[in-house]
Amino acid sequence: MTQLYEVPAKVLAFQPTVDFDAGLLSRLGKSGPRYTSYPTADRFSDSFGYRDYLHAVADRRTRGNARPLSLYLHIPFCDTVCYYCACNKIVTRNRERAATYLAYLKRETEMQGRLFAGMNDIEQLHFGGGTPTYLSDAQMGELMDHLRRCFRFAPDNVGEYAIEVDPRTVSAERVHSLRAQGFNRISLGVQDFDADVQKAVNRIQPEAETRAIIGAARDAGFRSVSIDLIYGLPRQTPTTMAATLEKVVVADPDRIAVYHYAHLPHLFKPQRRILDEDMPDSDAKLRMLQLCIERLTAAGYVYIGMDHFAKPDDDLAIAQRQGRLHRNFQGYSTHADTDLVSCGVSAIGAVGATYSQNVKTLEAYYDALDRNELPVARGARLNMDDVLRRTVIQKLMCQFELSVSTIEQAFPVVFRQYFAAELAQLKAMEDDGLVSVNGDWISVSSRGRLLIRNVCMVFDRYLAVPSAGPRYSKTV
Ligand code: SF4
Repeated sequence: MTQLYEVPAKVLAFQPTVDFDAGLLSRLGKSGPRYTSYPTADRFSDSFGYRDYLHAVADRRTRGNARPLSLYLHIPFCDTVCYYCACNKIVTRNRERAATYLAYLKRETEMQGRLFAGMNDIEQLHFGGGTPTYLSDAQMGELMDHLRRCFRFAPDNVGEYAIEVDPRTVSAERVHSLRAQGFNRISLGVQDFDADVQKAVNRIQPEAETRAIIGAARDAGFRSVSIDLIYGLPRQTPTTMAATLEKVVVADPDRIAVYHYAHLPHLFKPQRRILDEDMPDSDAKLRMLQLCIERLTAAGYVYIGMDHFAKPDDDLAIAQRQGRLHRNFQGYSTHADTDLVSCGVSAIGAVGATYSQNVKTLEAYYDALDRNELPVARGARLNMDDVLRRTVIQKLMCQFELSVSTIEQAFPVVFRQYFAAELAQLKAMEDDGLVSVNGDWISVSSRGRLLIRNVCMVFDRYLAVPSAGPRYSKTV
């Protein structure tokens, strides 16, 4: 793996720990946001539209405090449906639909590129979906060339250019081609190596195929290979999970994400095809989570937070140790000070103190672009309290600790007065050994790390107001 700078031995030696306490997790695990934004997306309002977004960009320009950009592109199409899926996707084998979408996506990126003219330096690119590799090799090459005409990209050894890949949709040659097209990070959806579990979720993906794609990514020179797993799927047991983890460790990815499957069939139609009797119970799910933590940390992976693990010399783990880790809609990120420009249906961007989300249907998306308007449907303009709480939640999610004096230097508040009610709530968590509040520092203990969402929820003032959006998944 390429490092951009030499990492001091002291930094490499420090490893944050996480303790698994089944009793504590079953007592305190509850529904809660994942805090990829604050306020969370279910709090966005449709009174925020295209013109508000233009104001946010103009504000950046007039204040002269332009930041590098993160660019997110959403490709919503998939060939087949995975029964656990809760994403905004379109399942179709009609490739014509992707060609039409691509034409509109190019139009949107061109408009965004013009809007940020003179300040459109990209340091981070992320393709998500759906299935980004639903686009053919030629379509992807064409799109990447188009993006380079619209934006200026940082060199390969500085920028993080990532793509989510469904191993079932690519060959080794295609992986080499993606690298040549400019991607340097690849994230592979695996979910589970067990054939029975794969059948129960309608995602048949032979282990040999996945291993071949990982090998191809290494050969092609991808800087980081990451794997996504899910625990809590139908027909999964601690025994099948243990076997899957052994295979993951042998595959040796740089990063691993282990997501909790939230079974909400009343909200997500594909999940209705999962049989209730195939679902593992809460005890089995906790045991699987425990296995993931124990096996991956024993294999040398560092627990980053939420559902993420990384090798100690991976950029993500280094950024965390150096206090540079950031959280956005794509999860954890090493590039903290960027504005996020997002293109495609349902994509969410973050510019300055605003969030904006695009329309969710293809019809509305095409319609807005035909009117020469960016397809912004909703969003949020943050006030000082939101920005302050966002900073507090970011620090806790990313670093597991918070310096009170640093917050007081950045915001016109006396922390202990402003957050008196929140600090009183943290007292119960202190008694449970989840956090400690000492002098200048609020620190989340190794016992509290798996419940980090509970800690952050204390600082979320919107939770007192019922949300119109879907319910949150459980914190564990
Ligand atoms: S899990 Fe991914 S590949 Fe499967 S249906 Fe959902 S978006 Fe498509």
